[in-house]
Amino acid sequence: MATQVLTTPSVTVEPELCKGCGLCIDACPPDVLAFHKKFNSKGYHYAFYLGEGCTGCGVCFYACPEPEAIVVYKKGYVPEANEEVA
Ligand code: SF4
Ligand code: SF4
Repeated sequence: MATQVLTTPSVTVEPELCKGCGLCIDACPPDVLAFHKKFNSKGYHYAFYLGEGCTGCGVCFYACPEPEAIVVYKKGYVPEANEEVA
C-alpha cells in the first residue's frame, strides 16, 4: 500500500462533538470553516471545513471549548490506515 502524505494542511471537525458555538469559525484567519446546513444528533449545526485554504495554524483548535472536536493536520502528516483526513 502506498504511503499517503498530506501535501497541504487540513482540518476535521467531529460533528457529534461540536456544540455549534461558532468560535472556530470566527477565529479562523483565512475563513475556511462554516456551519453545516445539517444538524448533529444533539440538534446543533456543526462546523465543517470548506475543503481548501487551511494553513494549519491551529487557531481553531485552541478556540474550541470541546475537547477532541477539532483535529488539525500539518503539511507532511502521514495519516494512519483508515484515518479520514478532509
Ligand atoms: S488550522 Fe487555522 S486555517 Fe486551518 S481551519 Fe483552523 S484556524 Fe483555519
Ligand atoms: S469551536 Fe468547537 S464546538 Fe464551537 S463550532 Fe467550532 S468545532 Fe463546534
